[in-house]
Amino acid sequence: MNHLTNGLATRATIDSLRLELAAEGADSTPIPCFRCGVCCEKWQPLLAPEELRQVAAALGLTLRAFNRRYTRPYPLRRGWRQFKATAAGCTFLDATSRQAGCTIHPHRPQVCRDWHAGLGKRECLSGLRRVVGPDLLPIALLYDDADDRAGFVAAIAGMMPSE
Ligand code: SF4
Ligand code: SF4
Repeated sequence: MNHLTNGLATRATIDSLRLELAAEGADSTPIPCFRCGVCCEKWQPLLAPEELRQVAAALGLTLRAFNRRYTRPYPLRRGWRQFKATAAGCTFLDATSRQAGCTIHPHRPQVCRDWHAGLGKRECLSGLRRVVGPDLLPIALLYDDADDRAGFVAAIAGMMPSE
């Protein structure tokens, strides 16, 4: 029997998961994103000039207006700019509900499209720690979607030792 029962993982399971990750280095096991928003809190994407133009146009703004409102210069790459940060993180992060969202999701930068949730990502583990209660990790609270729940359980079950 492994540590997973009825969609609930014990605190020990998550602790052993973290220990295992630490011992083995970054594990790249993908998991469904549970939209904790930590990655968008910590990072603001960097955009090349062409992508800046594309996002500005998608939002119906001139490049000048878009940059003034939403981006700041990035000194290490000529012409590249970075989304501004607010106290909550990326300027386009909506963290007002239980599951974080991106207010420009259909037009989000490529670097955001290329980012995927995984058990080797500190951001995702940080998000997991937020929802770990004193005893249980309520997987039902992580995902509304049953397939996502099953995907998460399968990902961590594959890392757990059998008893
Ligand atoms: S653009 Fe959207 S997906 Fe990318 S960091 Fe900002 S909030 Fe997150
Ligand atoms: S930190 Fe991971 S789980 Fe949380 S929103 Fe980002 S990719 Fe998704």
